[in-house]
Amino acid sequence: MREVKLGFSGPMVSEVCFGSLAISPLQGRVTAAEGTEILRYALEQGISWIDTAEIYDNYDQIARALAGKPEIMVATKSYAVTRSEMRISLEKARKGLNREVLDFFLLHEQESVLTLHGHQEAWDELLEAKARGLVRYVGISTHAVAGVRAGALQPGLDVIHPILNYQGIGIIDGTLEDMLEAISFAADLGIGIYAMKVLGGGHLARDPARAFTFIRRVKGVQAMALGMSSRNEVDYNLRLLAGEEIAPALQVAVQARERRLYIADWCQGCGRCVEVCPQGALYLEEQAKVKAEACVLCGYCGRVCPHFCLKIV
Ligand code: SF4
Ligand code: SF4
Repeated sequence: MREVKLGFSGPMVSEVCFGSLAISPLQGRVTAAEGTEILRYALEQGISWIDTAEIYDNYDQIARALAGKPEIMVATKSYAVTRSEMRISLEKARKGLNREVLDFFLLHEQESVLTLHGHQEAWDELLEAKARGLVRYVGISTHAVAGVRAGALQPGLDVIHPILNYQGIGIIDGTLEDMLEAISFAADLGIGIYAMKVLGGGHLARDPARAFTFIRRVKGVQAMALGMSSRNEVDYNLRLLAGEEIAPALQVAVQARERRLYIADWCQGCGRCVEVCPQGALYLEEQAKVKAEACVLCGYCGRVCPHFCLKIV
């Protein structure tokens, strides 16, 4: 597994970060126990860090996979706005992950200077936690060009986790070229960058080689989070990245798996999911409907549905 340095002052990490949303209850593709096994397997193959978030609700799953592996790093994130919310988020992560010190802690889904400004209290608390040695690196995740630019100029920020893929799928406020320029700007300042949704939430899964090659060529991006929910996917992605041949049976097993957002027919049409979708992929026509081409299969809508209608299948 290729090792990379994250930004000017970040740690050495594997080029691939395990994106644990894919094994979390939020996406519900596998059971918690199956997810832990897949994660353990990925760590055995050389992946040295894991991406998660408070809303993925899988700290215990990760903690089980991390038992006896203090060298594996974890990046997590929260939507905390105030100082007290951030304190609660940090304690929840430390306790849930069974770690005294958190490796990376990010503000989740920051869209612009205004969003970051609105989270200033939480950010200040995070910087203090870092100064006290409770967190090693701090940053933001974002689906927005303006989020990357704002993060780059945020004092004390170490790392940005932006959405990036060769079609620009999921960027909420600009073009792919705009995002590449913003990432280059941040990287020139020494910020560590690890990309998310490099397969466009599954839309680019037909040609992952092209997707990975694109990410590797982007100036300033050092690593990528890959969501994987089976051993086959781990093998497939890691072999592809290592330039190894892929057995036809493995190719078929992984590529045959199409994913989509399933909306149950008992949807009440309340509209809560429509309001939270960061991609604008949902709309109401009495019941919730999805524009499949806009959906990046993040699963964020599923957590707000009071009737458990939404699932990635
Ligand atoms: S519809 Fe749901 S899964 Fe798709 S992008 Fe929106 S929030 Fe994410
Ligand atoms: S939140 Fe659930 S019930 Fe409400 S519109 Fe969305 S899918 Fe339907």
